[in-house]
Amino acid sequence: MLNLESQYRSMGISDAVLSFCSGIEDRLAERFREIDRVAEANQMKVLAAMQKNRVSDIHFAATTGYGYNDMGRETLEKVYADTFHTEAALVRPQITCGTHALAVALSANLRPGDELLSPAGKPYDTLEEVIGIRDSIGSLKEYGVSYRQVELKEGRSFDYEAIRAAVNERTRVATIQRSKGYQTRPTFSPQQIGELIHFLKSLKPDIICMVDNCYGEFVCLDEPSDYGADMVVGSLIKNPGGGLAPIGGYICGTKACVDRCAYRLSAPGLGQEVGASLGVLPAFFQGFFLAPVVVAGALKGSVFAANVYESLGFDVLPDSTEPRYDIIQAVTFGKPEGLISFCRGIQAAAPVDSFVTPEPWDMPGYDAQVIMAAGAFVQGSSIELSADGPLKEPYTAFFQGGLTWYHARYGIMQSLQKLVDAGIVRL
Ligand SMILES: *Cc1c(COP(=O)(O)O)cnc(C)c1O
Repeated sequence: MLNLESQYRSMGISDAVLSFCSGIEDRLAERFREIDRVAEANQMKVLAAMQKNRVSDIHFAATTGYGYNDMGRETLEKVYADTFHTEAALVRPQITCGTHALAVALSANLRPGDELLSPAGKPYDTLEEVIGIRDSIGSLKEYGVSYRQVELKEGRSFDYEAIRAAVNERTRVATIQRSKGYQTRPTFSPQQIGELIHFLKSLKPDIICMVDNCYGEFVCLDEPSDYGADMVVGSLIKNPGGGLAPIGGYICGTKACVDRCAYRLSAPGLGQEVGASLGVLPAFFQGFFLAPVVVAGALKGSVFAANVYESLGFDVLPDSTEPRYDIIQAVTFGKPEGLISFCRGIQAAAPVDSFVTPEPWDMPGYDAQVIMAAGAFVQGSSIELSADGPLKEPYTAFFQGGLTWYHARYGIMQSLQKLVDAGIVRL
């Protein structure tokens, strides 16, 4: 007999938490239907790209060494290009993470004397060293690429006048980050990014617009590449890997831009023709196939978390009703115990390492201690259920992922249970 209450009770969720969370979920039916509709459309988009490119089991074979004539790799790249509606794509296990993909895209398309513009405020932390905002070995700055940044107006919207003033004859590439990442600004929609790109190109038609698309893939019907981006870039251990890709990154864009990326990733003269796939292609294809549905589950988890915690009086970003353009949810607890309990709940809900207790630690590169919850099949994968936050005011947890909606929901229930157990929340 189906008895979810006793099943959840045996997994550490009290009746009070379960009934509170069920009440929240009941209010989200229409919202979840919309998410499902987007997932359905994106599922068909990926499927059509696979059929058009005649994906077949010969494409799942592993290549080694140079990886010449790797038909699976070439077909996968066409599938990505067709899904993102771009001329070309570079999708490789040799791209080790999102930061690496972004570093390749930038360094491949910038030359000494060029200037890189960030027209939408501060980029993701790890890019500071890529660019040379913080000095680092091999940064763009060391190669004579200068950098200019235009802050957002009131921390939210594009400052078109300041952008106009910042673009000059040396401006070669603009880097635009879709997701808020660990900031408190809103995430930009593909349409909003499109308006910015249109404006930049009206000032300087040959400016290359690169979008950091991390955490944004398949959240909407469109991608920034549908709105004029010359390159969209992301990590395969986030959305487009569908939880199955064990490593990797992608760059989709114009043929000219992607060619330069390929020569930069391998070597001048070699380009896209080399790069053995080493047996990861089945996971890349299948993960990409599943990604629209996995992203929908993660998105439901974020919306659910926003509704649960907002109704308990916590600050949440995005809020319970706002439209979503990425899968990240921020919840602000105002005190360290809240953040710590939340992360411990997420960890306790994991399929891997559920028995460990996360502790705040001094992570290199951060000015405060950080607490992280991650019980993932793939190390560091943040399309899997995960949460983290710096131990400093205002004690905000950043939460994302969940390979299935049921798991995301259980993670949120566990987080709430830990807050209740610690006496921080009373239901
Ligand atoms: C995760 C992320 C990155 C970097 O990706 P890694 O795989 O962690 O190197 C860059 N930009 C944004 C917006 C991200 O979310």
